[in-house]
Amino acid sequence: MTNKEYADFLLPGVEHDYQYYLDKYKPRDLDKDAIVTRAAPSPTGKLHMGSLMQSLISSLYAKQTKGVMFLRIEDTDHKREIENGPESIVEDFKNLEIDFDEGYSFGGEYGPYLQSERKDIYQAFAKKLIENDLAYPCFCSAEELDEIRKLQEAKKARIGYYGKYAKCRYIPREEVVKRVNAGEKYIIRLKSPGSFYNKCCLHDLIRGDIEMPENDMDIVVIKADGLPTYHFAHAVDDSLMFTTHIIRGDEWVASYPIHDQLFKVLEFPLPNYAHISPMNVKDGDSIRKLSKRKDPWAAMSYYDEAGIPKDAIKLYLATLINSNFEEWYNQNSDKSIYDFTFSFDKMSVTGPIFDVEKLDNISKTYFSRLSAETIYNHLVEYTSKYDDEFNKLVVNNKEKMINILNIERGGEKPRKDIASYSDVKKYFWYMFDELFDKNTDSYEEFNPIGKEILLEYVNNVYDINDSEEEWFNKVKEFAEKYGYTSNRKEYKANPDNFKGTTADFCKVIRIIITKKNMSPNLYEIIKILGVETLKKRIELFYK
Ligand code: GLU
Repeated sequence: MTNKEYADFLLPGVEHDYQYYLDKYKPRDLDKDAIVTRAAPSPTGKLHMGSLMQSLISSLYAKQTKGVMFLRIEDTDHKREIENGPESIVEDFKNLEIDFDEGYSFGGEYGPYLQSERKDIYQAFAKKLIENDLAYPCFCSAEELDEIRKLQEAKKARIGYYGKYAKCRYIPREEVVKRVNAGEKYIIRLKSPGSFYNKCCLHDLIRGDIEMPENDMDIVVIKADGLPTYHFAHAVDDSLMFTTHIIRGDEWVASYPIHDQLFKVLEFPLPNYAHISPMNVKDGDSIRKLSKRKDPWAAMSYYDEAGIPKDAIKLYLATLINSNFEEWYNQNSDKSIYDFTFSFDKMSVTGPIFDVEKLDNISKTYFSRLSAETIYNHLVEYTSKYDDEFNKLVVNNKEKMINILNIERGGEKPRKDIASYSDVKKYFWYMFDELFDKNTDSYEEFNPIGKEILLEYVNNVYDINDSEEEWFNKVKEFAEKYGYTSNRKEYKANPDNFKGTTADFCKVIRIIITKKNMSPNLYEIIKILGVETLKKRIELFYK
């Protein structure tokens, strides 16, 4: 039996040989520095903040180098898969507006992009290894593997299937043939050519060089179901798809020696690697990994419900990816994250700490740069999904809502209050009688002014057509008549001579119409609410 016949015997029914695939997938025609990278999620759950971060990094590097970002679904572990896993991943990515140039559901020349549809390809390359005496069948049962482990523990030896412990490695070919013919089940293992006493080096683009012992484990390449392990699929897929940069979680650093060896035995050039640390959170005094279970904000649905825009989240993540991004963003308000040049050597080796407050601030800056119309359109969309009552008000009062959103927008120092679409109602409910009338908050405190004085102001002095300056001068004059001064110094020197300052007078009006001590520009608020509402709210307060 030749080696080729032996490989055919062990993995029968494989349609093409590896050469067919080497000829089929042609190198990509891209610029020399173009980065080809991928998101390679397993369809085991919804996307979360960590996976968004990783795919955003990949997408940024691919875009800035005019490269390619593709989506490969790693569905080789059916036990852990969720229902509609691949579709739900695609939907999550679409919702987050992460663009793929090709991949599962996007098409492309390097597919299939669903690993379960690539069985033939993996087996073709496993056969190459068998032919070159670099792979062999293993018949060991779970019990036998357990025995090996116990023996190693007793001898204080390294745990694993390697060297003399790799017992199926030494089964003569004739015996293998007999056992296979007798129907015994087997998997395919790598016959590792490595030695634990040699070194291999990971040149990580973020972490620098990391030396590790060479792999000497006869790792599984093809499992009992005919599908590959992650390691083998990584080497085969990323080679045939011409991935130049593997940007993945740092949990894979320890397996790098396996990958290094697989690329070598398969005669593929090594790609570049960048291992990303997981995101952390502060938990009391300690720092721990972001957890889907403990941190509600790890799930993307949290942001959707809160109405925090995806672009604001991406801006925030960009500040975590490269710390000099934020300064750039502050100076380049009209640009998008894709205009910034990210670099691997500015990425931190330790995981970034996810800071909700910082995200809030970035989101406020983001909102402060949007036009009122843009916010309005998204607000309609958001409220139609999450807040029927407010949606009706927003839709029926378009002009008013835009005017509200326009208060202190634009200019050198725009107002930064809204961090999410849900904040709009939180900050401006009092602008709608429907919400004001049923609000049960108490009014903040102030030194009282008689109802008649306020009504006199509204009826005889206030004019909706006044400019802000005219309005303010009139308020001053009116308030002075009733013992309020616009001279702060004078007030400070002799507080007993006055009822308060003009600001105190305005505060009364502000609290009566908003219940709050602080609000955006009072002149604008009164103007939008109008005289009738002003009167109504004065009456209501004194009732
Ligand atoms: N399917 C792997 C995971 O979800 C992908 C790792 C990689 O990017 O290579 O962890």
